[in-house]
This record gives sequence, C-alpha cells and structure tokens, in this order.
Amino acid sequence: MDTAAVERFRELLRIPTVSHVDPSQTDAAAFASFREALPRLYPALHEALEWETVGEHALLYRWRGAEAREPLVLMAHYDVVPVVAGEWAHPPFAATITGEGADATIHARGAIDDKGALAAILEAVETLVGDGWSPTRDVYLAFGHDEEVAGTGAPAIVDVLRTRGVRPVLVLDEGGAVVSGAVPGVDVETAMIGVAERGVMTLGLTAREAGGHASTPPALPATARLARAIDRLQRRPAPVRLVPPVRAMFRTLAPYARQPFRAVFSHIALTGGMLARALPRFGSETNALVRTTAVTTELSGADGENVLATTARASVNIRLLTGDTVAAATRRARRAIADPRIEVDVRHGSDPSPVSPWRGEPWRRIATAVGSALGSEIVATPYLQLGASDSRWFTAISDNVYRFAPFRLTAAEREALHAHDERIRVDVWLRGIDFYRDLLRLS
Ligand SMILES: [Zn+2]
Repeated sequence: MDTAAVERFRELLRIPTVSHVDPSQTDAAAFASFREALPRLYPALHEALEWETVGEHALLYRWRGAEAREPLVLMAHYDVVPVVAGEWAHPPFAATITGEGADATIHARGAIDDKGALAAILEAVETLVGDGWSPTRDVYLAFGHDEEVAGTGAPAIVDVLRTRGVRPVLVLDEGGAVVSGAVPGVDVETAMIGVAERGVMTLGLTAREAGGHASTPPALPATARLARAIDRLQRRPAPVRLVPPVRAMFRTLAPYARQPFRAVFSHIALTGGMLARALPRFGSETNALVRTTAVTTELSGADGENVLATTARASVNIRLLTGDTVAAATRRARRAIADPRIEVDVRHGSDPSPVSPWRGEPWRRIATAVGSALGSEIVATPYLQLGASDSRWFTAISDNVYRFAPFRLTAAEREALHAHDERIRVDVWLRGIDFYRDLLRLS
C-alpha cells in the first residue's frame, strides 16, 4: 500500500469543503485551505505545471506537451455535499480507516464524490513528473469548486479555455464506475463510461387563493389544488424510449449477458420497444434510463396551522432523457396538470448533453486504460449518465466528453454517495491512480 499517497488523500478529505445552495453558508476558508494544501502535498506537479485560479475558487492546471496537438482534460470537483454527522458510523471529515489489507476502507464525505478522483489525478501526475515523464500533448486539470450546487466554476473554466482557442480531443469527468449487477442479466464487471447525461430542470408550480379563514375553507383550497396537480403529474409519467447511448450499452453487453437477456439485447432492433417497457420494473435506475423523470421535491403552504394558504407552491425536479427538451417537458407538464389556475414556470433548465462517440481513438484510450490498470476482464460500455455533472459545460468545446471514475464500487458504496457513510476501499482508490497514469501515457 502506498501509505504516503493515502495520507495525502486523507488530508484533503479532512478539509470540509461543503457546498451549500445558500452561498452565505459556504465556508470560504475551507476552500482556501484546500487550495493552499495542494502545492505542499504535490510539489513536483506544482513545479512542472502552470496553474491559476479561475473565478474565485476553481483551479486550472496546464501541463505543456511536446507537440501542439489537441489537449486532454481531466476534470474533478473538490466541493462536497453537506452531511448529517449523526447519521455517520465514522465522523465524515476524519477520514478514518477501518479494516486491513483488501478490506481497508477510508470513510469520509467526498471519498468517492469527487475527491477520490481529484486526489488520484493529482497523484498520477505527481508520480509521472517524478519519473521524468512528460506528455506529448497538453494536459489540463480542471477542478471545479461548486459542482454540487450547479455553480459557476466549471463554466468559468470553459470560458477561459474557449477564449484561448482550446479544443480538447478528450475530456474525462466523474460519472460511471466499475460495477457488477447494474444491468439486468449481466453478471460480469462493467466499466460504465457515460457518453451523455440527462438534462436537468426545475418547474415551479403555484396555486393561489383569495384568502379566507381555515374554519370556513373553500371547496378546493390552494393546497388541495396543488396536491391534485402533483398527483396528476405523478400519474402521467413521460413515455419510455430506448435512446442511442442506452441501445449501445445493451448491444455492447449482449455477448456477456445470460439468457434470455442475451437474446433480447442482441436483437435490440426488434426487442427495443419491449425492453423499454420492461426496464422500469427492474427499479428506479433502469426506469431513469428509458424516460424523463419528474419528482416533486419542495412543498410550501400556509405559515400557520390554522391559516388558509393564500399561496401553495411546489418544486418539480425533472431530468430530461436524451432527445427531450426543457420546452417539451414543460408543455407535457402543463397538459398533465390540465388546470389553468396552476401557474407553471421554468425556474431553470438545461437540455440533455450531446452524445459523445463510443468508437474512435479517444474512446479507445479510456477503454484501454480500464483494461491495463483495472483488469482486462472488465467490459467497457457506453452508458447514459442519469445525474448531471460539470462535464456538460465542456461539450461546448469538445466532441469527446466522457464521464467515468476509475473505481470499483459495490451497490452499497454507490448508495452512500450524497448520503451517509460515503467510503472507498484503499486498494480500489490506489488502482484509480494507475488508471489515470495509463490514460496519460496513452495520450
Ligand atoms: Zn460529483
């Protein structure tokens, strides 16, 4: 075990760089001390690379290549989501290690999302610089500071690169991982490499009432009208569809699937419709693969228990399937609600990302590094990333944007993301460093 690398990683995990939706709650000092720690922990990298702060806290490094070829961009973000410390088995910012050998595990907020990738990238570059290796093409490291609140760091970095005329041949950000059992009927380990991600938007629903007294309520008060609208949305989910990245995933995995899945995946031109209708039954992840999903997240009504609400509001968070749009989803929601007295407004929205190719040189480089560093038995497959990442901004300057973190994660480990007991096995994290080293050397 590379103890020094693990200790550097733990030091970064102990800095509570928590992003809050309300920026006044964000502790800028934590972000400053994170940035200050980096040159001390990775001195060779900071000697060999140029680096700058973009916006307030985002970091952009440039490792000059020998040739003027299109550059490679490795992305990560160093903010983390908030914690409810009482829910954790180990303190979330102590980076406690439990177990030994292959079971040794680091427990911390950010262990996977996304300081795991960030520290592995830094470690890979630090050791390559130490080996005297340098890249043929430029390599950029782009580290956002507010991914978790869909902030300004990554778009600011993209602006800087665009202004300088940078067109990356390959961009790699967080996303899928090495998993088993995520796709029904497939038992081999798969590297889920996101070639696209769903769009994200929020609709505000508002019902209003002239006012009155809770002792003499109207027949359909604002709160009940709003509840009816939410119920109608819930009863009319978006139609299912097998979009190209999802089709490609099933085609790629067909040879590794057991029957009858193999037959279904191999003949997807014939079976696609049936498969799309069946997938929601396998669970919420496979449901989200085949349709735009919508969920009511925030609700508000009156300020007191004996007061009639004059305004009742809801937020509906919608994730758009490839091919869907903010405008189309808004129209569908209005039709489903079918009530002109419910005001529907788009609070914010971004359409689904373009789809990156799963053939060609950039894709092959990632797949090759998966095989050489993580295990030749792992099947690299394109997939549709269900959540949003900072990488969506980079689709403006690159046609080859991929979403993959080189870590073997169990279903339980994946569930701990954004929840309590986030953790990563030490061996798994160390292998991730090898992946980034191999990817850099292949570039
Ligand atoms: Zn993340």
